[in-house]
Amino acid sequence: MAPSNSEIAGLFDQLAELLDIEGENPFRVRAYHNAARTIRSYPKSLAEMVAAGEDLTELPGIGEAIAKKIETIVRTGRLPQLEQVLKRTPKSLLELLRIEGLGPKRVKTLFYLLKIKTLEDLERAARSGRIRELPGFGLKTEELILNHLQKHALQEKRFLRFEAESVAEAILAHLKGCPGLDRIEVAGSFRRWKETVGDLDILATVRDGGEVMARFLAYEGVEEVLSHGSTRSSVRLKNGLQVDLRVVPTESFGAALQYFTGSKAHNIALRTLAVKQGLKINEYGVFRAGERLAGATEEEVYASLGLPWIAPELREGLGEIEAALENRLPKLIELADLRGDLHCHTDATDGQDALEAMAEAAKALGYEYLAITDHSKRLTVARGLDEQRLRRQMEQIDALNEKLQGIRLLKAIEVDILEDGSLDLPERVLKDLDLTVCSVHYQFHLSAKKQTERILRAMDNPYFNILAHPTGRLINQRQAYEIDLERIMQGARERGCILEINAQPERLDLDGEHCLMAREIGVKLAISTDAHSALGLNLMRYGVAQARRGWLSKDQIVNTYSLSKLRRLLKRTC
Ligand SMILES: [Zn+2]
Ligand SMILES: [Zn+2]
Repeated sequence: MAPSNSEIAGLFDQLAELLDIEGENPFRVRAYHNAARTIRSYPKSLAEMVAAGEDLTELPGIGEAIAKKIETIVRTGRLPQLEQVLKRTPKSLLELLRIEGLGPKRVKTLFYLLKIKTLEDLERAARSGRIRELPGFGLKTEELILNHLQKHALQEKRFLRFEAESVAEAILAHLKGCPGLDRIEVAGSFRRWKETVGDLDILATVRDGGEVMARFLAYEGVEEVLSHGSTRSSVRLKNGLQVDLRVVPTESFGAALQYFTGSKAHNIALRTLAVKQGLKINEYGVFRAGERLAGATEEEVYASLGLPWIAPELREGLGEIEAALENRLPKLIELADLRGDLHCHTDATDGQDALEAMAEAAKALGYEYLAITDHSKRLTVARGLDEQRLRRQMEQIDALNEKLQGIRLLKAIEVDILEDGSLDLPERVLKDLDLTVCSVHYQFHLSAKKQTERILRAMDNPYFNILAHPTGRLINQRQAYEIDLERIMQGARERGCILEINAQPERLDLDGEHCLMAREIGVKLAISTDAHSALGLNLMRYGVAQARRGWLSKDQIVNTYSLSKLRRLLKRTC
């Protein structure tokens, strides 16, 4: 699409600002700003003028050189001079420039006077009150910066771990054929199973020099090589994801894996512990007075500090090291603990596969039971079931259960919670089901109080079993609705209701912190895939990882129970 005048003008303004900061000749800076002003207010589309071969130098303030640049922008969508400047400009400086009302002059001061190089530096400076003391600044500017940083933190595009996973798999497969490659592993937030990742950190060990770096740079998905060396290279892929590969010595692999897995908070706590013991820990190993005590494996790194190995999902600096020291790390739930899935859809509503295919897939996963939870009638876009169609599906399930071996289908529904807190289907049909999964699918904008009361009222219905995707958030797409989760969890526990950890990679709802809260409160949880196809049942591992990030053990997760134990729990009425 041809760029609009204001888009073209924006590029010139940005170029002018950056050159101004770099100390470029003020006449040139002004020339770009003036050109931007002319372009922005010009009544005709410059893109069309270029297409028609019109002479742009007739415009006020547009000379030969700028006219040429405009033509390039119209033809390619890019301004190469700007890209060059952008390349050599620190990211934080660009970020500072985006703060409305700050302007290049003050950005320059911040950058050179306070030596602010990263957004973290900037936040620290603002929080410690150093910015308000600078000439030409004040409390207002400081607040402006903090507000902006907060918004930025919400908006910064991170990749779903799920998206990064297929990338990681492809790169590892590409590297694994490489002669000389020994060990290879993805570290970082990816390994900690954070729901989103900013980049991928890959660690490898090689025998006799290996060609692994060259092979990494030659990966077909690479858009740009950011840096390359014999022990570390960094690339940006075509999808925008940054990937780093580090080659580390074999005797340091465990230490490097530990170090680059993080988190920062976990590593700081670990280092503090090491110092107390007179040890030094870094990405090369654990040392006492220069002598290496450990480094080849993570287990020995932790052991050298008197700790058991700590699962990566726990490494968030939330007290896991203290717990490890006192031997009270939880025995975390594992994928193999699950005996069934309690939320999935079939082709009766918006799923892709028929009942039988879903049952076979669940059986292949080693499950004992699978709850079929198609949508209820209010969700018309999904052709939700009314009572009659639900009754027909129940009959089909009964018939299928006669035939199936080694797997039991449970008759269930994902029933909408209506605005007044009632459920979308009458109790006379809900009572004939094995269980219900209850969801908020509309009216997201209620106040926290109203939304919470709506859900608690729904839980008063004796046939309410599981609250699905409790906050409604969609990562990178939709914020959670306002809700008092603590009250919801307490209310659920009192009533014998269950909260769901929805394993869909863009939901992961409850999130890790909510799982911690659930653990504390002691409410029962279900980990469910909400699969819309037989293949979708495989996403369970994402829900399990989320539970592990919340320190959860299997006794709190109801779909690790036998069917008879589960049935007892679901019967709230007796
Ligand atoms: Zn739903
Ligand atoms: Zn669903």
